[in-house]
Amino acid sequence: MATTYIADVTVFDGARVKPRQGVLIEGDRIVWVGAHVRAPRRAAGVARPVEGAGRTLTPGLIDCHVHLNFDGGADFAAEAAGLDEAVGAIKGTANLRRHLEAAVTTVRDLGGQGTCQLAAAVEAGVVPGPRLLASGRALTITGGHGHSVGFAREVDGADDARKAVRQQIKAGARSIKVVATGGVLTPGIPVSFTAMTPDELLAVVDEAHSWGRKVAAHAIGAEGVLRAVRSGVDSVEHCNQLTAAAAREMVARGTFRGPTLCAVRGLCDHLDTVPSYAAEKALAVHDDSRHSMRRAVRAGVRHVVSTDAGTPFNPHGGAGREVGFLVDWGMSPLQALVAATANGAENLGLTDVGSVREGFVADLALWDENPVDDPSALVRRPRAVYQAGVKVTPLRG
Ligand SMILES: [Zn+2]
Repeated sequence: MATTYIADVTVFDGARVKPRQGVLIEGDRIVWVGAHVRAPRRAAGVARPVEGAGRTLTPGLIDCHVHLNFDGGADFAAEAAGLDEAVGAIKGTANLRRHLEAAVTTVRDLGGQGTCQLAAAVEAGVVPGPRLLASGRALTITGGHGHSVGFAREVDGADDARKAVRQQIKAGARSIKVVATGGVLTPGIPVSFTAMTPDELLAVVDEAHSWGRKVAAHAIGAEGVLRAVRSGVDSVEHCNQLTAAAAREMVARGTFRGPTLCAVRGLCDHLDTVPSYAAEKALAVHDDSRHSMRRAVRAGVRHVVSTDAGTPFNPHGGAGREVGFLVDWGMSPLQALVAATANGAENLGLTDVGSVREGFVADLALWDENPVDDPSALVRRPRAVYQAGVKVTPLRG
């Protein structure tokens, strides 16, 4: 069994920062964390400890919202042309590497083709990549957001919604994505359009939860956000138009918020390049996003890092960029790092990743600078990424 000791390192453990720590890894697990000067004898016996002085160790980052079928080109719809399960899995294989190189050790795909097969390949060790929780296809109403870009299955009525959930789970989905409103990247449906009926949403949530699967809802408009929260979804993605009442309800229910600022910024920083319908809609929600962010943080809504990677000018491996955007728009660096680690794990229902704690899987990232002092450290290459106790960077091949 391989043993690694990381010596005299600053640790962000998923909740707080502690200086001069030691972290002992045996096999795939963290077996001891504490003051370096009090390291157990078996740590002292490790022949070549990893030098941690001046560096910071964090849990591997968790991105709760990506689209591995897409590379982040300017025209999402054009990129979807020709997409099928094989193409989706091949593109996903390349995109997974980008996450791992950027210290992202867990991702959830929220809508795509070939992603369940890809998740199985990662788990079998055939494809290098972060732990992948796939949702299969997203569920949307007929003509709803995502119907034209190949990542969604159209659903109408509560019975069909249940069937669609069962189909995704049969195909290997570890999570369910439901599209509760219109979207920026689908022409012909306004972002504030409230798509799913309460009955449909309740059926999705009930069926998914009975299988032990978490539900992420895409919701932009205020009414759709509230409807999704009240139906019991586990996270609201985008959540651009958040009222004070909806924020209070999210706090009361423990609903996570994934504001996908990488997606907002990717579009709004390239208004001349992206299709005009997308530019108009992105611009229309930009200020709402900013105000909602402030309202959510003030209300105490818990956040996760959801990049929506794959959307225009939003390349994979951007969890560190999302942390920076969260800080720009009102979170403390510590809050944003909690979002990127421990909150992400809880949101995905994972009980042994996202923290540097004894008994947890040793998914870790070592940084030359302390990201709590300077979140921009996260957009630079990590010194090392460990996955289940194995140093995996630089990636081979
Ligand atoms: Zn998305």
